[in-house]
Amino acid sequence: MSCQAVISFPGYRSQGHCGYCESATGSKIYGFSAFKMPIQLYGELLDKGFRRSGTFLYRPDLANSCCPQYTIRLHADEFKPSKEAKKVIKNFNKHICSNSNVKTENNDNTIEELKKRKTKGSDNKPFDFDEAIKLSEKSDQFEIRLLDPKITEEKFQLYKKYQQLIHKDDPESVTRGSFKRFLCSNPFHQKSHISYERLKTEGGHFHQGYYLDGKLIALAVLDSLPGKCLSSVYFMYDPDYTHLDLGKLSALKEIALTRELGYKYYYLGYYIHTCIKMRYKGNYKPSDLLDPTSTSKPVWYPLEQFQDAFEKSNLKNKYATILNWKCAKDGDTSDSEYLSQHVPGVLSYKEAEKVANNLNGYYLLEPDDNGTVSISEDEEEDEYTDEFDDVYRPKLRKIHFGPFSHIPGNKVFKTMFLELIATLGPELAPCFGVVY
Ligand SMILES: [Zn+2]
Repeated sequence: MSCQAVISFPGYRSQGHCGYCESATGSKIYGFSAFKMPIQLYGELLDKGFRRSGTFLYRPDLANSCCPQYTIRLHADEFKPSKEAKKVIKNFNKHICSNSNVKTENNDNTIEELKKRKTKGSDNKPFDFDEAIKLSEKSDQFEIRLLDPKITEEKFQLYKKYQQLIHKDDPESVTRGSFKRFLCSNPFHQKSHISYERLKTEGGHFHQGYYLDGKLIALAVLDSLPGKCLSSVYFMYDPDYTHLDLGKLSALKEIALTRELGYKYYYLGYYIHTCIKMRYKGNYKPSDLLDPTSTSKPVWYPLEQFQDAFEKSNLKNKYATILNWKCAKDGDTSDSEYLSQHVPGVLSYKEAEKVANNLNGYYLLEPDDNGTVSISEDEEEDEYTDEFDDVYRPKLRKIHFGPFSHIPGNKVFKTMFLELIATLGPELAPCFGVVY
């Protein structure tokens, strides 16, 4: 077993601001900063309910948070657009075609064809999603450009306008630093100069710019996980173009891209049933939710089955599960506030201890005083040189590896490892090294 991921001291944040219901203390998460994370391993974390914000990876505590968040994935390969989705695409195409020349005339769904049908007042041709969604990009007016995940002035101006007008963010909080931390930095150590071919084979983090008449009107922030899925990180648009329904359109564009890349799934982030404005994620079908109570292999159920469970679930138990799962009540949890919360999908203290004692070992990584030594002997030094200068990149001088019972120091390390093992499970825990 090798140490594939390098993370900071992980921990439980028991009181955080919730952006969905605006509770000041209602959000509870377990998380860590990742200095290094192979994208395949990140894919496994997605299937354990994790998401990322820059290099910070977190998993919500569904039992104790105000707004339980469920990982949702769409079967992009089987996607059938709803009436509303078709309308969004048609409206956008109509807008683009109203004053545009079409580059390609070679198919039946061209803008010229749409114009003709519009004047005839009939539209009996079956709707072809993959064709219709690409149509706008055939005009000389609209373009989606693949961009390196770096900050530029036009991206930052768009972000500022979007955060202030749509999310009512305090202007002082919308900085270049926050853009870079949230939307550029990532733990994947990818090469620069991305291409769709490279995103398909190596994966990585990238931006897509939506340009109308050469002006950036929207930006999609995405991760590509080879052979697995396209994962949406964020989307922003210019509020002057609200009439184009760019939020809905981008999801449809991303579903089409998922199919082009040959992936089965499109991950939309979290579905939050208790938050009406976040239920729209369930409008894309067919979708599954990750059962939050599974502690080993990921278990998914169709959204519809969960919606039944939400209706039936009693109010004392705010999260719903379809698995036959009982919350563990055992164990001496006095050392860990987190493990005493009985978070679904997380092992109890005693269970984690049992797993820990059966593990081959653990990794505890010691940073160098002046930060100049590489992670391990076979690791390239240049792994840590990239452009995100405000992200801390540790160089390490020592890797401690040994049986769990030999963890040095006080109880704090031991508890930290137990919490990590309890959250990641026995399969993933050995892949992690913790910097202390
Ligand atoms: Zn909330």
